[in-house]
Amino acid sequence: MTVTASHDQTASAAGAAVEAAYRARTPHSRALHERAVRSLPGGSTRAGTFYLPYPAYMARGAGCRLTDADDNEYVDCLNNYTSLIHGHAHPQLLATLAEHAARGTAHGAPVEAEIALAEAIVRRVAAVEQLRFTNSGTEAVMGAIRAARAATGRSKVLKMEGAYHGSYDAAEVSVDPGPNPPSWPTGRPDGVGLSPGLGGEVLVAPFNDLATTAALIDRHRADLAAVIVEPVMAAAGVIPGSREFLSGLRAATTAAGVLLIFDEVVTFRLAAGGAQQHYGVTPDLTTFGKIIGGGLPIGAFGGSAAVMRTFDVRRPGAVSLSGTFNGHLAAMAMGLAALELLTASEIARINALGDRLRDGLQRSADDAGLPALITGMGSLGHIHAGHQSSLPITSYRTAIGTSRALAPLVHLGLLNHGVFAAPRGMFSVSTAMTESDVDAVVAAFAEVAQLVAPVMEAQAS
Ligand code: PMP
Repeated sequence: MTVTASHDQTASAAGAAVEAAYRARTPHSRALHERAVRSLPGGSTRAGTFYLPYPAYMARGAGCRLTDADDNEYVDCLNNYTSLIHGHAHPQLLATLAEHAARGTAHGAPVEAEIALAEAIVRRVAAVEQLRFTNSGTEAVMGAIRAARAATGRSKVLKMEGAYHGSYDAAEVSVDPGPNPPSWPTGRPDGVGLSPGLGGEVLVAPFNDLATTAALIDRHRADLAAVIVEPVMAAAGVIPGSREFLSGLRAATTAAGVLLIFDEVVTFRLAAGGAQQHYGVTPDLTTFGKIIGGGLPIGAFGGSAAVMRTFDVRRPGAVSLSGTFNGHLAAMAMGLAALELLTASEIARINALGDRLRDGLQRSADDAGLPALITGMGSLGHIHAGHQSSLPITSYRTAIGTSRALAPLVHLGLLNHGVFAAPRGMFSVSTAMTESDVDAVVAAFAEVAQLVAPVMEAQAS
């Protein structure tokens, strides 16, 4: 008993020291949080930006650096959850914003900039002949699923366990079902406020397990409109799909007459033509978001003209999908400018920086004796702190074996050392970063790993 108590004390003493250091650095953020809880539930308007004891409030960003309300500076490895591929306040993007904002913010009419951005995406992505813009990735996923239902006349959707596709109800199933998930293909709506009926509409399959997933597609083909998958599952822990899995999904969906949707809201950054180009797999529909708005809110979904004609407003019975801010002038213009800056050589450069970052983080964890696996691809990565299995992380269930309890400690530790990443461990590289920024992040993580390793040892014994 005494031994257990002293181990617990090690863990809680380390946690308390990290939290105390964080509180000492961030009194203005704390005051803002205390003000926020009066008008925003829990002080938050976005689940992804909240963490305990209270989030650092950011005052400004420039390049790959953020400065908080207490003037602490951070290397930004989160980039608004991967959407700011050029970092903060890029001069060319700011000039584009100023130029377009001066023309008025929204005209209630189509603008030329929406054609230009659509053309730029169509040029880059072989599978996209036509697309529709939305204001978020969530709405893009909703539109793609609606397109698939309209094109097939069927209603069910199959998604991967652990995959996050935004907050459209039909996507909020088995995103994080915990250590005792239901058996495939049964899904579990993620939390209260969602209809329990969703479980019947949305089927769930294991990522990277082709035999199981292909069998489910075949068995449910009569009701299945679409399979939606991220080529690299981002929020689930930046877990790459295998080539065999993604091309097998293509074959299985084609054989069953089911549409294949690639959610590239996060992964579009990985190659000029998106992750689908990297993998050589052509989906029927693709969803976009984040980087295609150049920093402003956006989403889009598209595919072949044959599928997208269901949205042709000139046709009687076309699928109706509107949105007050769809095709927003400044977002269209910023998105186009951001894509023009994102040349193939810039993509190659940040992918190489991502490799350097993941290697450095893994080495730091290993040197500190901290069990951890750094996953990812190109400019995307995730720190699975506490991962002790010798097996790779290939799916939700293999990722959840990780001691998630460590993630908040690693996150606060990184904040104390001037690194801003996602509370769950995701990070991304922007074109604003250089090798020396990456090396500074690795050095900060090395210190955090030294601090956290004894906690892990105490928990394990
Ligand atoms: N799809 C994926 C893969 C995402 O990661 C996200 C958001 N992180 C979305 C869709 C939803 O995008 P948004 O937050 O713009 O609604």
